[in-house]
Amino acid sequence: MVNGHLRARVVIGADGANSATRRALGIGPNPPEALAIAVRGYADAPSADRPPEQLIEMTDEGWPAYAWSFPIGDGRANIGYGMLRSKLDELHGGGDGGGRAVLHGTLARMLADQPAYPGTLRAHHLPLSTWRPRQPDGPVLLAGDAASLINPLTGEGIYYALLSGSLAGQTAVTAAPGAAGAVYRHALERELGRHLRHTTLLAGLAGRHRTLMDAAVAAASHRTELFDTLLEIGLGRGTIPAASLARLAVRKLVAGWR
Ligand SMILES: Cc1cc2nc3c(=O)[nH]c(=O)nc-3n(C[C@H](O)[C@H](O)[C@H](O)COP(=O)(O)OP(=O)(O)OC[C@H]3O[C@@H](n4cnc5c(N)ncnc54)[C@H](O)[C@@H]3O)c2cc1C
Repeated sequence: MVNGHLRARVVIGADGANSATRRALGIGPNPPEALAIAVRGYADAPSADRPPEQLIEMTDEGWPAYAWSFPIGDGRANIGYGMLRSKLDELHGGGDGGGRAVLHGTLARMLADQPAYPGTLRAHHLPLSTWRPRQPDGPVLLAGDAASLINPLTGEGIYYALLSGSLAGQTAVTAAPGAAGAVYRHALERELGRHLRHTTLLAGLAGRHRTLMDAAVAAASHRTELFDTLLEIGLGRGTIPAASLARLAVRKLVAGWR
């Protein structure tokens, strides 16, 4: 912690989902429909006589909404459940503590054989890339969650935090301070722009057509190429293949998808 003042040519705000740097730039939080909320805690891992496996179980509460259990190698598992904030607000009607009850209750129901150790569940925000603040001009750069760079299909953000942090660092040492914001904005667009537009499109479709992601995951289970494509879209910087994009555009025209 630093008291007093520091001077810098460029400042990189890589301070997470509740970024103070972002607030200092006058940029507000993501709206509820572009914000996920997840509770995470610890529990006993499934019994040692079973091979360790990572479990992800989807629910019907929109997309992304899932529970997970990841063994961490010492007999415990990292467990949790997350969903869209807007969907959570709909479910609990806005009462005090209602959201907490829904999140904890759903997790307990979905992982009935792995109850969370008392007191370990904590709630976290995940700002999704379907609502990203425009990187301002000037010497302050936002990276990772502070820039709302979490994949809206999967809730994954580590890849985007590392990539944007690296681009921000490169910009900080190469660009003139006054130009840094614009240079970094263009670098992000070059590296991630197409991917971000495609994931926003897919997240919108998945929100309106509940079966879309189920169908995609089911098809991917026996088509390696589709599996790889979905993995890159959900965890990396993958894009929708041109032929599928054309099919989506035609369906959108025919069915009048908004
Ligand atoms: C429950 C949960 C599970 C997740 N699981 C996955 C997953 O499996 N895979 C995946 O890819 N992503 C996952 N994510 C998302 C991922 O954790 C984030 O996208 C990623 O950590 C973002 O990195 P970041 O560096 O931007 O922010 P953070 O990792 O949040 O780092 C920000 C840092 O800034 C520090 N900080 C904040 N404010 C200040 C301040 N005022 N002064 C000094 N320091 C400050 C914080 O202490 C923190 O160390 C998950 C998120 C949650 C909430």
